[in-house]
Amino acid sequence: MQAGAFDQFIYAGKFKISKMYKYLHDIGGHVAWKRIICNSKATPKASFIVWLALQKRLPTKDMLRSWGMSISSSCELCQAADESLDHMFFDCSVSKEVWSCVLLQLGVSRSVMQWELEVQWCSVKSRSTKEADIKRSIAFSETVYALWLQRNAKLFKNKLDSVDCIIRRVLFIVACRKARREAEEKEAENKRKEADKKEEGHKDETMRKEAEKKKGEYEGEYRRIRAQKKQRV
Ligand SMILES: [Zn+2]
Repeated sequence: MQAGAFDQFIYAGKFKISKMYKYLHDIGGHVAWKRIICNSKATPKASFIVWLALQKRLPTKDMLRSWGMSISSSCELCQAADESLDHMFFDCSVSKEVWSCVLLQLGVSRSVMQWELEVQWCSVKSRSTKEADIKRSIAFSETVYALWLQRNAKLFKNKLDSVDCIIRRVLFIVACRKARREAEEKEAENKRKEADKKEEGHKDETMRKEAEKKKGEYEGEYRRIRAQKKQRV
């Protein structure tokens, strides 16, 4: 995406996630991770940050330094390595612990992998319609977003939540998004039933009218035959 292309997502001075989704739907066909964004049930803000990360456009310190900014290179989360996209997700000891615990809570017991492999894993999950996989896909986006927020909080406000706190927040959002999705599905199902009911009612009404019409025709025919018989008598 060219510099300034973000302007196309701005409407009336506000960033419109719906415009970005449409853009992704239109151009995203050729990228393996398309489903992580386009099928996402995560919050729009989380999807946006993941999208930037997937395109390697998150302004991590290594990138900012390569642009000539004179800033410290150390990771805000662990202070033990240089900050880069690959370090933040999920080579960093803090992010590794967060993602590992979130995965465990969602029934996935495995080691945390490097960014590219985690993206591949999530791409597969985001194509699935299984409830557990949908939750895992949401969790991936929300974890990336939560870690990015933590990094910014530490960098700009010198505030850092505990790992437990981050994990709880991610799991809470995952549960909320799941509940919201279920409520939306239920509402859609109710609307479908209501439409079917109306359709059924419409069919009944048509059949009733048809029956009345036939009855009228038979009665007319009966009267006509009787009148003919009377005339013969
Ligand atoms: Zn780190």
